[in-house]
Amino acid sequence: MELTRRSFLKLGLQLGAGGALVKAFGFDVRPALAQTRTLKIDRTTETRSICPYCSVSCSVIIHTLGDKAHNVTGTTVVHVEGDPDSPINRGTLCPKGITLKQNIVNDLRLTKVLYRAPGSDRWEEKSWDWAIEQIARRIKDTRDRHLIEQDHKGRIVHALTAIGVIGGCTDTNENNYLITKAFRAGLGIIPLEQQSRI
Ligand code: SF4
Repeated sequence: MELTRRSFLKLGLQLGAGGALVKAFGFDVRPALAQTRTLKIDRTTETRSICPYCSVSCSVIIHTLGDKAHNVTGTTVVHVEGDPDSPINRGTLCPKGITLKQNIVNDLRLTKVLYRAPGSDRWEEKSWDWAIEQIARRIKDTRDRHLIEQDHKGRIVHALTAIGVIGGCTDTNENNYLITKAFRAGLGIIPLEQQSRI
């Protein structure tokens, strides 16, 4: 039987402590069992995901309290760790990736729009509708001012280089397809970049 570190500990829990384990594995696993019983992840639901911070694409396990039942509320992430079964990071995470839980559960996380006007030294709280309207307005004004309709030979190009679009490392193929359709085919924006994995 092929055992990963995780399945090994789980199997140990299922079998229970005692001489049977010594017999099954050839050595005494009871100290390890004693530790797993006190872990904060003992009763969590594991969700496998990918660290969103860079293109190394480290695999992570997100531990959430609760069993994913739809009628359960108030679940929260209690721990994030590297996935030991991943061939990419083999359970390790860099100092940035190891802070992922704080990206999800953090009282300081911004949930409202804050705007600092040009020349101002303070942030103002704005509505989402205001922010979306501003973004649309500025994209339209920039495109109206800078769209290149023809190249030097008079060929129609409809190219816009005054706006760039930067994607993230968790962008999916489908997401990037839509970005290309909307921004390059739609608005003519030439600089498109992302760091997603293939
Ligand atoms: S854990 Fe570090 S190296 Fe791995 S994907 Fe995240 S940021 Fe990149």
